[in-house]
Amino acid sequence: MKVPFVSFLPMERELNEEIRGAFDRVFERSWYIEGKEDEAFEKAFAEYCGVPHCVGVGNGLDALFLALKALGIGEGDEVIVPSNTYIATALAVTYVGATPVFVEPDIRTFNIDPAKIEEKITSRTRAIMPVHLYGQPCDMDPIMDIAEKHKLYVVEDCAQAHGATYKGRKIGTFGDAAGFSFYPGKNLGALGDAGATITRDESLAQKVRALGNYGSDYKYHHVYLGNNSRLDEMQAAFLAAKLPHLDRMNAERRRIAGIYLEGIRNPLMTLPYVPTYAQPVWHIFGIRCDRRAELEKFLNDAGIGTNKHYPIPMHLQPCYQSLGFRQGDFPIAEEISATQLSLPMYYGMTEEQIQYVIGKVNEFQ
Ligand SMILES: *Cc1c(COP(=O)(O)O)cnc(C)c1O
Repeated sequence: MKVPFVSFLPMERELNEEIRGAFDRVFERSWYIEGKEDEAFEKAFAEYCGVPHCVGVGNGLDALFLALKALGIGEGDEVIVPSNTYIATALAVTYVGATPVFVEPDIRTFNIDPAKIEEKITSRTRAIMPVHLYGQPCDMDPIMDIAEKHKLYVVEDCAQAHGATYKGRKIGTFGDAAGFSFYPGKNLGALGDAGATITRDESLAQKVRALGNYGSDYKYHHVYLGNNSRLDEMQAAFLAAKLPHLDRMNAERRRIAGIYLEGIRNPLMTLPYVPTYAQPVWHIFGIRCDRRAELEKFLNDAGIGTNKHYPIPMHLQPCYQSLGFRQGDFPIAEEISATQLSLPMYYGMTEEQIQYVIGKVNEFQ
């Protein structure tokens, strides 16, 4: 049996007509940038998240970068980010000219450890960027308390967690702003690159919009040295077609995760831990195993696709060599990088595929 790491096919077959309808509508209107589709999707996604403002942008990196830039974070500033995340979180900080300051995750949740944030705060710290990694909400109460105490902004990286809730409230609504990615493989994915910044703050939303549109407040009038990062009409129409299905598709991921958590009974594996405050959306189902390379080969040989999220922690990335870190500086992030393996997880996995993965993981000795 073959079980790919991810497949969009079941979702695409199901939404075929809606997605083609979206294409036809945009194509017939013949209007591709800054229009009705973008406006409609922004409104729908803001409503979905439970905030008044959503600004569509070009991708998830820009959603974070433009939020930091709009908050006025720049040269000489420091921003707290987890030591294990996708590179985009740290790059957003670097792009505004600030320095990412890494904080270790909790080994059980993979998310930033709130107890380790305060020791990294200096007079230059301006913001904390919690990442809801793998679709698991961060422990937001202590993070918000620290932010309030030290007067720091909070910009949530929600790229992997569309619809996840913390104590019943949607992630992305806790901080000053939040960035989403609609990269095709994300829980809500476009058919190309796309992203969005959400916020409760109207003037911040306007600034993000202006910054992503050449710094322009009205046509040919440029207040800021802006960027070109807009959500195009075609992607907005695809996203609007898919959004009404997001909760159902997240529920299906949750069901698959439940079967994995029940069925995997191998003492060599550490399964994901779900705190009582969290309702995750399982962008990734990540286990840990000390003999990861052997497990990976065993599963791949059995036709099961796997992935590693992520094999190199931020402080050891060649592009961040100038920060001067060495192996051993962030032992928990390094441990996760060395042992984490992601199992197949996508909408439309069949019962046979789920059981086959469980059987093979249990068979590994
Ligand atoms: C995917 C991702 C991003 C970046 O999104 P893009 O749309 O690829 O730019 C940022 N942060 C995290 C945690 C991600 O997984």
